[in-house]
Amino acid sequence: MPKPAASQPAPAPAPHEPPPSRVDGQVLVRMRTLSARAPQSLVLEGGSAADREAAALAWAKVLNCPDNGCGACAVCRQIEGRAFRDLIIVDKAFFEEAKRDGVSGTDAIRRLLPVWGQPPQGAGKRVTILAEAQDLHVAVANLLLKTLEEPRPGNVFALLAPQRERLLQTLVSRSFVLTLPWPEAKALEPDAAEWIGALLDFWDSGQGWFERTGTKGAADRALAQRILSGLQHELIKALSGAGGPVAGRLARLGPAGLRRLDLVLAQAQEAFNQPTAPVALVLDWLATAVISKGARK
Ligand SMILES: [Zn+2]
Repeated sequence: MPKPAASQPAPAPAPHEPPPSRVDGQVLVRMRTLSARAPQSLVLEGGSAADREAAALAWAKVLNCPDNGCGACAVCRQIEGRAFRDLIIVDKAFFEEAKRDGVSGTDAIRRLLPVWGQPPQGAGKRVTILAEAQDLHVAVANLLLKTLEEPRPGNVFALLAPQRERLLQTLVSRSFVLTLPWPEAKALEPDAAEWIGALLDFWDSGQGWFERTGTKGAADRALAQRILSGLQHELIKALSGAGGPVAGRLARLGPAGLRRLDLVLAQAQEAFNQPTAPVALVLDWLATAVISKGARK
């Protein structure tokens, strides 16, 4: 059976322990304000996966540290080490451990229900972190939804996702959403910007893209990766209404189109994680998948 982090002893400091996570100062201030009336469910979107996880741990510290998340006391250090009695982390490792024990993901979550029905052991809140909640199996997400529909005194949930649009709408509507700043709001690199411009033209006119990718050696993996991450950055800007020339053009895809772009980018990224992925084919797929099936309004 998967054990919640709560039942694990405090870890001995590892020789190569990562430096304590850094959380944006403004986010921390908002968390401290929120903590007076902590929402039962908090969605943390934006930033990188590591930023979201660091922010979720900071939230747990704010809710449990006697000094509002000082980062230095025993409670804060235990949370940072993911070994605090009132901290449950549902992530890849959680589901892998369940799998090793022959327990399905849904059953592993079901086993947490009685824990969530109990008040926390300490004086703060029991914080359950659902890392990369957009990847949760739909049965798990529905179980979670049922959980959030009931009051769970002393228990709060942090749902982490790149964008709220990736989560079940019914989950988001029951949550308070906190948006983390995008880590590097730097300008697009010139070569990636040029390709993204061509992509936007293709989405407008349906022309000019395949000539580009069809040229032998036109885009290598590194450039394709820069195009993907550039689009990710601009997508976040478009979703948050931040504007800018590229984000402004992306916004014209409309909410459904942006959601589709988000999914397509995630799938393209997955494809590029395979070292043998044919770069031009993946880029062509990305270009056409965004505007297919009438997603574009
Ligand atoms: Zn502390």
